[in-house]
Amino acid sequence: MLSARQTLIREELEAGTGAAIGMAVDGSKSRTGLRIWFADLEERYGPVAEMRPYGLKGYAVTLGFGAFAGEVVRRIAGAGSEDVHLARALVASVDSSVEVEVQGQEMADWKITTGDFRMTAIIRNLPRDPEVALTEVSRDTIVPMMAAMAELIGYDVIEEDDHGEPEYEGAELFTTVRRRERNPRNRLLCIRLHGEVCACCGLDPRETYGVAGSIIEVHHLEPLSLLKEPRPYDPARDLAPLCPNCHRAVHTRRPEPWSLEEVVELMADPMGKAGIL
Ligand SMILES: [Zn+2]
Ligand SMILES: [Zn+2]
Repeated sequence: MLSARQTLIREELEAGTGAAIGMAVDGSKSRTGLRIWFADLEERYGPVAEMRPYGLKGYAVTLGFGAFAGEVVRRIAGAGSEDVHLARALVASVDSSVEVEVQGQEMADWKITTGDFRMTAIIRNLPRDPEVALTEVSRDTIVPMMAAMAELIGYDVIEEDDHGEPEYEGAELFTTVRRRERNPRNRLLCIRLHGEVCACCGLDPRETYGVAGSIIEVHHLEPLSLLKEPRPYDPARDLAPLCPNCHRAVHTRRPEPWSLEEVVELMADPMGKAGIL
């Protein structure tokens, strides 16, 4: 049972962080604990999230750094402002019933400058079944915390080559938009904030396709015209979840995609009888 859940947790962690995950379950005590780290860094060279029983029905998650994580901490300290913004937004997306703290820092502007960094989260009133509790804590608290670390470390976003894309004015901005849309941490935050349901057609792919249904994509709402006069990127405001069909439809107009409202209008009147568009 536990190994099946572990596979599930690992899949969610890897999908949310975009990095390979190492984990170990500590079942030596009456209540199960869990340690999670990035596989390529091992436990000693990177961030580690550790989950321990806390109180009667609670768990405490501590996020810290391994003994030899100096290099990674230096890399994180040099992360760009967009990465920092997204990392904070991911941590802020943890449910408000969970007490999240960063040792000696304000939650609004926490940052990582040394290996002594400690982020803790206390989750109370969990289900008694240790496996259910473990899954809940991993999904709702550890995944966003580790995704924040992955963003700061700068795990590569898989870039599909856009060969065949025509050159046009604003192509570079378009690349920025595509990179944000393909960033697994942006996707995770978008789903946590807006749900895993298409913002155009209302499709819930997990309801339709079951276990094969984790296919919601992230669309960047900011029109190209606005990108030409940049304002700070805000993943909470600028991203929308779309099913693959609606996402393709939205991008059939270039360079500025159809707005979600326009696509909804098109769907309501696909033959164009109303002559709106
Ligand atoms: Zn859709
Ligand atoms: Zn898009």
